[in-house]
Amino acid sequence: MINNLNNSQSQQTIADELSINGVGLHSGINVNMKLFPAEADYGIKFIRKDLNKNNVIEALWSNVSNTKLSTTISNQNGVSVSTIEHLMSALSGLHIDNIKIEIDGPEVPIMDGSSIKFVNLINSTSIKNLNKKRKILKVKQNIKVEKNDSSVELKPNNQFSIDFEIDFPSKLVSQQSCQLQLINGNYKTDIASARTFGFEKDVNMLRSNGLALGGSLENAVVVGENKILNSDGLRYKDEFVRHKILDSIGDLYLAGAPIQGYFFGNKSGHQLNNMLLRSLFADKKNYEYI
Ligand SMILES: [Zn+2]
Repeated sequence: MINNLNNSQSQQTIADELSINGVGLHSGINVNMKLFPAEADYGIKFIRKDLNKNNVIEALWSNVSNTKLSTTISNQNGVSVSTIEHLMSALSGLHIDNIKIEIDGPEVPIMDGSSIKFVNLINSTSIKNLNKKRKILKVKQNIKVEKNDSSVELKPNNQFSIDFEIDFPSKLVSQQSCQLQLINGNYKTDIASARTFGFEKDVNMLRSNGLALGGSLENAVVVGENKILNSDGLRYKDEFVRHKILDSIGDLYLAGAPIQGYFFGNKSGHQLNNMLLRSLFADKKNYEYI
């Protein structure tokens, strides 16, 4: 996947306030979320409106506090917001640099398990150019993080491109790989509708651990032993690997700027994505802002 980036472009925000509500995938908690335009260099910040102090959490790699099944960020006071990756992915895919997100609960709503509802919400207003140039994070050296048989890599490249391979021990989700060229705004058509997925055999284990409490066939693809349990099947033939790309785009946007570089993910997830950003920022020779 290639994303057309251009550092001569202006930073962007949304033109108008937007709101959406839904249930959190893991918490099962119903939340209201409001998106507000923000000024240049504001970045992306979540504000927990159900709390009245220490409630601002910046969407940055250094604030990632949990990567078990979803990405959670926390501020210095331990106030957190979880499952931010699909919203972050939509913001990256639509090149929104600055936005304030008010939320009245601990978890971003899962909507339909993809980012398409967030994309459509943002597209329901216009995107506003701000009077300041966008800075881009250019990868200058190869970085690789491995754990067990999973790995993630970043390499210098003249665009943001993303490749992914998965290989689950399930005949329905066996080897899939995806390399897409995302140019001219086709994040929306090629990635945004790919839903999160889980295996039927894991559902009871997740629930007994207090996870996936809001999960249903309305917001996840559920893979049984011999079939997809969702009555209308898959949205893309390779929906699983496309969702992993959707997640990676969201996790990588926690770099705080769009990345110019090549990303490769192999059977990886939120934890390795965050370890990769931590490795990137551990050495100033790895990157520069352009
Ligand atoms: Zn996801």
